Amino acid sequence: MTQTISINDSGRLQLTPLEIPSRLLLGPGPSNAHPTVLQAMNTSPVGHLDPAFLALMDEIQSLLRYVWQTENPLTIAVSGTGTAAMEATIANAVEPGDIVLIGVAGYFGNRLVDMAGRYGADVRSITKPWGQVFNLDELKTALETHRPAILALVHAETSTGARQPLEGVADLCREFGTLLLVDTVTSLGGVPLFLDAWGVDLAYSCSQKGLSCPPGASPLTMSARAVEKLQQRQSKVANWYLDMLLLGKYWGAERTYHHTAPINLYYALREALRLLAEEGLANSWQRHQKNVEYLWEGLENLGLSMHVEQEYRLPTLTTVRIPAGVDGKAIARQLLNEHNIEIGGGLGELAGLVWRVGLMGFNSRKESVDQLLAALRQVLP
Ligand code: PLP
Repeated sequence: MTQTISINDSGRLQLTPLEIPSRLLLGPGPSNAHPTVLQAMNTSPVGHLDPAFLALMDEIQSLLRYVWQTENPLTIAVSGTGTAAMEATIANAVEPGDIVLIGVAGYFGNRLVDMAGRYGADVRSITKPWGQVFNLDELKTALETHRPAILALVHAETSTGARQPLEGVADLCREFGTLLLVDTVTSLGGVPLFLDAWGVDLAYSCSQKGLSCPPGASPLTMSARAVEKLQQRQSKVANWYLDMLLLGKYWGAERTYHHTAPINLYYALREALRLLAEEGLANSWQRHQKNVEYLWEGLENLGLSMHVEQEYRLPTLTTVRIPAGVDGKAIARQLLNEHNIEIGGGLGELAGLVWRVGLMGFNSRKESVDQLLAALRQVLP
């Protein structure tokens, strides 16, 4: 006898079509996507093995090599957000028992520590107060002490607004047979980066910041040295979805099915990278620098000060000190509710002490800065 099961309608909301407020996203990310990117994303999907799609994947690879200034053949976009690309990098690079040295000067350094530990690394960390960066002497001493298989650094620490200089680090790493792994989530597209010239072996990023694209398709690249380590692993990569040996067969000549790529996000990423190539890297970096200096000047004129020393400030993300007696959360809420502008609050050590203001990709424009400064003039006590 078949049993009749009645449908549970408790979750069956009767909704009107989607309506989302239009915001200016000047927080730590996501940033607003470029309108042309959103248009491209609206194109009808094709199959993930369609020749037109495979050609688009090739274009993405080539353009990613350009924006990262690398010739690494294994340069792809991971289906997922920056964290997926971060996890892919760790999962593939780390073998259980590997000593992994991590520079921690903010929230994302800590995330690397947690992740590397989960993949069986013998994690060692060096720390700095949030907002500061490591110098070459400090890194050299730590490398001598720990002799790690991998040194991981966050190029652009989004929780602090500090830019970790990378020049010279790889030369130190080579002395100890150490691979250099770098988080470029908040730098790619907006901050000078020369992966090959700087000797970076592993890097990952995201789509929703300097690339002016929605989140969900995240760049990852591995040098020949990193690929060799991967090929010589004794144990399988402990994450099927993110295994580069499998994924490499989809992105490489074999074109073997691995997973259904989020087709429309790849359309968006391809368009975002095309726009960046059209602008030119040097122009994009200069635009980010010029607009952030305009922001700093405007904020200083309002009596506000920045948390990070100017030399190490990111052009993509600024931490602004919340003046004593001001309710930082209330100001951010007012900016959102009354002016449709999103800014971020502080994380971890900087919680309650700073606002985080992002000028990334499409949003790194004078008009965005003017809009924010005008709104701040109204909401600040
Ligand atoms: N690393 C850094 C430095 C970040 O700023 C972020 C996100 O803001 C991530 C990793 C994680 O990226 P996602 O939030 O896209 O997963």
